[in-house]
Amino acid sequence: MTKHRASVKDILRVLFVYDEGTRINLFDSFPWLASFFRKRIYFALLRSFSDVVFTILIFWGLFGPQDRYNPVLFISWGIWWTSIVLSWFFVGRMWCAFCPFPGIGRILQHFSLSLKKRPPRLLDRYCTYIATLFFAFIIWAEAVFHLKYSPLGTSLLLLSILTGATFFALIYKGQAWCRYFCPMGKIIGSAATMSLLEFRPDLEKCRGCKTFACKRGKDALHGCPVYLGAFNVRNNLLCLDCGHCLILCENNSPAFYLRHPLRELIINKGRHLTCTYIIPFLMASQLSRFVQEKCSCYQTWKAYFGHSEALTFSLVLGAWFVFFMLLIRLGTRLFNFWEDELFGRFSPMVPVMVPLAFTGELIYRLEYFLRHLGEFLNYFGLGRVNISPLGLKILSLLLLLCGFAGSIYVAYIFYAKEFKGAVSFKNFLAILVLIIMVEALYLYYS
Ligand code: SF4
Ligand code: SF4
Ligand code: SF4
Repeated sequence: MTKHRASVKDILRVLFVYDEGTRINLFDSFPWLASFFRKRIYFALLRSFSDVVFTILIFWGLFGPQDRYNPVLFISWGIWWTSIVLSWFFVGRMWCAFCPFPGIGRILQHFSLSLKKRPPRLLDRYCTYIATLFFAFIIWAEAVFHLKYSPLGTSLLLLSILTGATFFALIYKGQAWCRYFCPMGKIIGSAATMSLLEFRPDLEKCRGCKTFACKRGKDALHGCPVYLGAFNVRNNLLCLDCGHCLILCENNSPAFYLRHPLRELIINKGRHLTCTYIIPFLMASQLSRFVQEKCSCYQTWKAYFGHSEALTFSLVLGAWFVFFMLLIRLGTRLFNFWEDELFGRFSPMVPVMVPLAFTGELIYRLEYFLRHLGEFLNYFGLGRVNISPLGLKILSLLLLLCGFAGSIYVAYIFYAKEFKGAVSFKNFLAILVLIIMVEALYLYYS
């Protein structure tokens, strides 16, 4: 662990040369960052701002004009969701630190209007499936009901997440919704596995800790809202990056680290159930959405199925999902490694696919943003901006190349370092062929 102020050279080395042990403690290098996280007033202000924005959005969508020009659509799908997708790559799950959805629940708990029960252990076992199903439903509904063009549908979606977060806050202490059920939290957590930042404890400092205040709380301060505590954070899947435990820990253990963006993917090797289903589903949904919006054959199929959007889209989505599940299974077999005594079961083809999956999502969202930016500015009399289709194509191509490079890099590190000697060159070439095939599908359909 680096304890001095990092130089530009150190930063570049961490970002571009994979080395499992190398990362930079940003609190050592930029002490103002630690102060920002310790002064909770900044977080309270940012959360209040997002509370106000989302309240306006929900009312505007419910009671404003029900046409595709209602700015709620562009602000929700174009600005907000695209910014979150972009933020995955840089700050991981930090959106959750400012998210407005747990706000009402927090107020109710503050005034003791909550049963404040402890969430049962069985939630840990089954919540991943439930949250993944919620997430699948949102993506499905977005495509089938054309939510991106429905102010009412968009507001109802935001309201349903707000209702879920509030309902669970009435029963359980902390943010049970965020830990167990939130579909957005699951996708953000999965994407955060390839972010440049990680929030981690210094386990040397935690040794001998008697209070575990980061998890349990201290005096009038509540503990970790998602029942983790800094000492338990091993990956970016669950921690909200809220920094609340900084003010609880007396040993200065938690800190933010800059790391190689593929570090966590390589170390974890697809061990977590969340990614096992979310990644193939996300990739399937992207190709289905591209097919729905860009392929003329989709309209032919739709006519064949009695013009049912729900049936046609579900069949296309189901077919792509089976395709990606099989591809990931095949890739994992080619790695020859999917279980060991120390690590349990894992699926190395999942982390290989992650860079492509999340750049695919970024392309889809950026396209929407750039296509509708002109309309949005025009609505407020701010002039027109037209992005040429060629410009969009070039941007998509560049992003896809970044995702492709990331996937190849992870596969290479597995072949040459992590599973050294266990994967034949022939198998490695076959894995590369699978990656190229997926890249070609994205290039063709996007
Ligand atoms: S898990 Fe969901 S509701 Fe909770 S903070 Fe994150 S996005 Fe918001
Ligand atoms: S992070 Fe701090 S409070 Fe939590 S276990 Fe470590 S030393 Fe204790
Ligand atoms: S471990 Fe710390 S930063 Fe992570 S969610 Fe809990 S309190 Fe927030």
